[in-house]
Amino acid sequence: MKSISVKLGLLSFLLGLNTQMVIIQGKSNFSHSLWQSLCKFALMKKMMWSVLAMISLFACRDQDQVDVKSPVIESVTIDGASVTSAIRQAGQTVLLDVHVSDNTALNQIQINLHPSEDGHVHEGDGHQGGEPRLNNRYWAKSEVLNISGTSHHQQWELQIPDSVAGNWHILLSVLDDIGLVSKTYCVLLTVENSNLPQISANTNPVYDATNTIFLSSGNSLEIDGLASDVDGLSKLFVRMANYAGVSSDTLDIPISGDGHTMAFGTASFNTTGNGNYRIIVEAQDSLGFKAMWDAKVVVQ
Ligand SMILES: [Zn+2]
Repeated sequence: MKSISVKLGLLSFLLGLNTQMVIIQGKSNFSHSLWQSLCKFALMKKMMWSVLAMISLFACRDQDQVDVKSPVIESVTIDGASVTSAIRQAGQTVLLDVHVSDNTALNQIQINLHPSEDGHVHEGDGHQGGEPRLNNRYWAKSEVLNISGTSHHQQWELQIPDSVAGNWHILLSVLDDIGLVSKTYCVLLTVENSNLPQISANTNPVYDATNTIFLSSGNSLEIDGLASDVDGLSKLFVRMANYAGVSSDTLDIPISGDGHTMAFGTASFNTTGNGNYRIIVEAQDSLGFKAMWDAKVVVQ
């Protein structure tokens, strides 16, 4: 709006100038008094255009000042329920309905579904984040759609892959036609998956309610447990990794018998200095489904 008004102002200024130039070019054809009155007319016309230009500028500035309201995410529902978190099974379809509004005009709506496993948090409305545990397999979706009007319902059918499990954030935001962005809205989607191998583990020192183990520098971490799968396990290993995902030490456990249930440990991992690490148990079944159990290890 502002650029249009500036163009209008420039255009009117140029029009006024042109009128004066036309008069000057025609000077020789007119008497002195006529020239003077024409000059006054030209000046008045230029002033009139300038006043009009100023009015258009101020009128548009007023409109800019009115539209300082960002678009709003009015409601978010998952399968008809207004929630900030939901638990679903792998393979299910989730119906996401988002109602958005703006005082002038909506422009775009964005969905960003991403793993929440690194413990990151979101400012804005809805779920805040902070899930520390690793997901099983990767799943993500990002889409920007053009929308219009002052009120809009957007629906997405999210098909959860049958191989994943863990926590995902569904992050939503809206843009209006002058570029104002809404507060984000986050929904936590927790996916359970009974097709994946089951893993249980005990550690020494023990892990707390947030799956965090505090370990004194120089001491070793011990772990043992069970992995099972009705289709039979094909791979099982335990590893210690840093927070960049690089493993320092991996213990491969050979699969024996039908591989329905395998015990592991007691395995011992030595720390390599202060910092944050992860102890990870990974199991894969004969159909290729993978599962992970993990805990954060804080060495201090
Ligand atoms: Zn997130």
